Amino acid sequence: MTKKQVSLRLENVTKIFYDKKYNTEVIAVNNSNFEIKPGELITLLGPSGCGKTTTLRMVAGFELPTKGKIYIGNEDVTYLPPNKRDTATVFQSYGLFPHMTVFDNVAYGLKLRKLSKEEIKEKVLSTLDMVGLKDLANRAPSRLSGGQQQRVALARSIIVEPSILLLDEPLSNLDALLREQMRIEIRRIQKSLGITAIYVTHDRVEAMSLSDRIIVMKDGKIIQIGTPNTIYENPNSKFVAGFVGKVAFFDVEVKDIVENKCIIDFRGKILEIPKYESNVEIGSGNVLMARPESLVLKDPKKGLINGKVKINVYLGNTIESFIDTDFGEIMVQIDNPSLKKIYDEGEEISIDIVPELCKILKNED
Ligand code: ATP
Repeated sequence: MTKKQVSLRLENVTKIFYDKKYNTEVIAVNNSNFEIKPGELITLLGPSGCGKTTTLRMVAGFELPTKGKIYIGNEDVTYLPPNKRDTATVFQSYGLFPHMTVFDNVAYGLKLRKLSKEEIKEKVLSTLDMVGLKDLANRAPSRLSGGQQQRVALARSIIVEPSILLLDEPLSNLDALLREQMRIEIRRIQKSLGITAIYVTHDRVEAMSLSDRIIVMKDGKIIQIGTPNTIYENPNSKFVAGFVGKVAFFDVEVKDIVENKCIIDFRGKILEIPKYESNVEIGSGNVLMARPESLVLKDPKKGLINGKVKINVYLGNTIESFIDTDFGEIMVQIDNPSLKKIYDEGEEISIDIVPELCKILKNED
């Protein structure tokens, strides 16, 4: 397959749905601005109703923006119908033709483009090979598993060599193990073809493991854009921190800011905590953000927060230890537990903070 790598850009895109009957309006997407580089896979991540699907549908041309512009490469596609844009969409519901074989489903787009029989056969077989379905070309979709059907849907989309691949929660109907396998497959195929892609999900693990960058959305607005690592380690808000991973927040007063460190007094102990976003100011109204792996269990009174082990959840290479404290329940992640001291359920302990692994954020969503 030939590679066509293009960028995608949204400029001040807003979508308002009006309900004339009840005279109400919903701002589904509120002034979105972002650019996806050629060959990049970006995930739209956020809670239900935050505007992910509407954003994707506007890129595909199924919805028109109320305001703003959409560019594929240098071309303004804002008002182009879906079939005039070089995009292909994979839906959660597969959308296969039940009366056609796998081969014919995948061949469909090429037949519309009037390719010769030989060309179609060659392309369909090589695409089926790419998604691991070469041996099932003559099956009916109803005789395939969910994962296999989604592979057919993916093959049908990529065979037409779109410039932009749009994936709307494509793995939601699959069980956990298949989801894991398929997301690796999707990433492998997207990378090998070099297709620019948008992936919609509300599953943070999916977003983290697939994406070059993640766009976190809330109430129609983009809250943060960054690599999975940035979003996880340097979230710009409590909302992003909580949405992309487990986290504990402690109200703190920032005494001073020196270069990129906040000096805080945590229960009588002075700590230097890295600050990421520049909007943190000296004074109260801030929180210390601690991920489960930035907390350590110690003997009673040795750490900063006293507590009692409520329950230990064994996950093989880690233990999640849930601790009752006067800040509420806090989860501490113990990696490589065979090398660590493990406290039993009911035992009095204390929690220490690893300052370098924490962040200071403003106490607002
Ligand atoms: P989910 O994860 O549940 O699919 P989402 O983040 O994809 O959610 P959207 O489907 O884009 O969210 O919806 C954003 C908002 O726009 C929601 O409040 C939704 O109810 C509203 N909305 C979406 N489509 C329409 C429509 N055709 N008419 C009216 N309101 C709509």
